[in-house]
Amino acid sequence: MRTRPFGPLGSHVSALGQGTWNMEYDRRADAVAALRRGLDAGMNHIDTAEMYGSGRVEELVGEAIAGRRDEVFLVSKVLPENASRRGTVAACERSLKRLGVETLDCYLLHWPGSHPLDETIAAFEQLTAEGKIRSWGVSNFDKEELAAALAIAGPRHIACNQVLYHLGERRIEHTVLPFCAEHGIALVAYSPFGSGRFPKARSRGGRALGEIGRERGATPRQVALGFLLQHPSVLAIPKAAQSAHVVENAGAGEIELGTDDIRRIDAAFPRGRRRSGVPIL
Ligand code: NAP
Repeated sequence: MRTRPFGPLGSHVSALGQGTWNMEYDRRADAVAALRRGLDAGMNHIDTAEMYGSGRVEELVGEAIAGRRDEVFLVSKVLPENASRRGTVAACERSLKRLGVETLDCYLLHWPGSHPLDETIAAFEQLTAEGKIRSWGVSNFDKEELAAALAIAGPRHIACNQVLYHLGERRIEHTVLPFCAEHGIALVAYSPFGSGRFPKARSRGGRALGEIGRERGATPRQVALGFLLQHPSVLAIPKAAQSAHVVENAGAGEIELGTDDIRRIDAAFPRGRRRSGVPIL
């Protein structure tokens, strides 16, 4: 499994991680087993949030990582409505309790909200000083919002920006990804399969992925993940509650696409015109 530098501590994190949104709707035993299978396969980056299942998913993740804390790079998120100075600290403490851990490896603001950003960042720095988090980042931030965060925090404090990025939605390639790369901010691609809208095998894009996959001994989903991971600042966090899916996804951690593969994917899934803002699911 390829790893990527992540955060000011220079941690190395699996380029492919594991999402957990909506896992409260999956069979709990399957979801727990799938997360453990992902750890076995080297997908050590687990992404969750206080929002997911109103805390139930953090509890599920806690069960999955029990006894394996040292293997995991654990990420959770504070809801914008809780992201005041005191609210962020309290939300983090609740997440730690549900997860059954003493420290988060990274703590994110889930999306920009109405609490002043300097308050949220002050809370993140306090949590870091207290050893409750090892790094912090943001999610769903466009270039201007990232620049504002950078102006408050200073360089090399923002570990990542987690944004919507899949073959059908490449807007972040225009400005957000270059900005992140320039400032050493990891870009974490969420919903890398389009959150349940992966291209059908018979669609133009599906055929392109299938052909490339056949040539490379890979599945269409592995090719899709391989495309997202070609940029050295990008990580991706597919969600899978089925162990067979996790195994397939982990297999993408080794794929290296060639320039001709990239050209064919570009043609089937155009980047689209430059637009401001970030797309949000
Ligand atoms: P996704 O990862 O694009 O797609 C998940 C769906 O794909 C699930 O139905 C899953 O099925 C299926 N799947 C996964 N691997 C598969 C495979 N190899 N073959 C067939 N089907 C497969 O969607 P997502 O959950 O929206 O995004 C991923 C993660 O990003 C989330 O879980 C969450 O952690 C994060 N996220 C963050 C934000 C944010 O605002 N920061 C927003 C959205 C998502 P099974 O579960 O049945 O295996």
